Amino acid sequence: MAKAAKFGGSSLSDGGQFKKVAAILAADEARRFVVVSAPGKRFASDEKITDLLYRCAALAQEGGDFSGPFEKIWDRFLGIERELGVFAHMEEALNDIRQRIAAGASADFVASRGEYLSARLLSAYLNVPMVDAAEVIAFDEKGALDLTATEQKGRFLKDMSRVVVPGFYGALPDGQIRTFSRGGSDITGAILARVTGAEVYENWTDVDGFMMADPRIVPEARIMHAVSYGELRELSYMGASVLHEESIFPVKEGRIPIHVCNTNRPEGAGTWIVNEGALLHEHRQGLAAGIAGRRGFTMITLTKDNLHKQKGFALRLLQILDRHGIGPESMPSGIDNLTVVLNDRDIRGKMDALYHDIRTELAPDTVEIASSIALIATVGRGMARSAGVAARLFTALQQAGISARIIDQSPKEMNLIVGVDQRDFENAIRAIYHAFC
Ligand code: ASP
Repeated sequence: MAKAAKFGGSSLSDGGQFKKVAAILAADEARRFVVVSAPGKRFASDEKITDLLYRCAALAQEGGDFSGPFEKIWDRFLGIERELGVFAHMEEALNDIRQRIAAGASADFVASRGEYLSARLLSAYLNVPMVDAAEVIAFDEKGALDLTATEQKGRFLKDMSRVVVPGFYGALPDGQIRTFSRGGSDITGAILARVTGAEVYENWTDVDGFMMADPRIVPEARIMHAVSYGELRELSYMGASVLHEESIFPVKEGRIPIHVCNTNRPEGAGTWIVNEGALLHEHRQGLAAGIAGRRGFTMITLTKDNLHKQKGFALRLLQILDRHGIGPESMPSGIDNLTVVLNDRDIRGKMDALYHDIRTELAPDTVEIASSIALIATVGRGMARSAGVAARLFTALQQAGISARIIDQSPKEMNLIVGVDQRDFENAIRAIYHAFC
């Protein structure tokens, strides 16, 4: 059995957290491929090492003095080295980084040093080898991940009984350091799980797992026991903050389950992310896996008699939207009407021109525009097979005194989306949570 275990920034924010990570690794020999983030925040107003590094790079590029943020980085790493009682050559490494920043090193290189130093510290503390991500994670000339090259380069890792690899970065073909987007150590963990053929990808963080709804809105929301990759994508698309989106693909293809665990409470059950087929009935307490929503949408409803018989009406509407660089979020229709739900971000400054084009090119009888709409997705694979799902949702909303402005169910019926007035957003989420979770 082999597991890849990725530890996020809050799991490595100080010496005490490093010790928890060491205890978690000591508890299970299978945790062989260890991926680390840079030290994160120790308390709410603290600064992440990666943010400080980006600040150093920006200041240096403007020819400014970067000693302020650099000193904070220095203190953090030396402090951890001291707390752990190890000697990981932190001073020497930090001096070298300072020189490179001053000499104009790229922002990607500078940002990557947080993960690099974190891995050095953990490997010294555990007394296990470290492999630099630049030797394993390969990007192509265009800066996209080259999974085939990565698989070849990383093959040797399979034979190691334990190894620490920094997350977040890799190297371009010419050897230059390239980072993933923010939060990208999740991707490194997923890639290493895939490359090493690990059976499980553990993602260690500071929460007990994924909540079935935003706890700021539903304080009693439970932790999901298991969720499928597809369900998770729907939920994260609708605003639930979960793993880095790109971290799902490498493990999904390899059918490697992800186990989200809490470094501060390792005995908790966590949340499993699995493929659809592995999702068992008993994984679900309620009908839905979870609920997520987003504010900031506008609905445009066009009415015209016998609209459904007019060939190409929807197509022409889509063409108009496309001309304005807008893609609809959803497009439910009736016999005499057609609605498009648009993201406010996409239509900013374009509404007048859009309205004009719709009026002149499609000549609808009426055009109604409703702004300040929130969309709420109720996601769950089993919902397709349950009769009366929509009725249950409407009843829940009605009982809370909320009217649904729009409803849309995807053909795969894994999710049911309702649009409500923004002012009803939180109440609607609470009502749906209690009806479905
Ligand atoms: N340290 C990087 C960031 O803050 C990458 C990560 O933690 O995953 O974005």
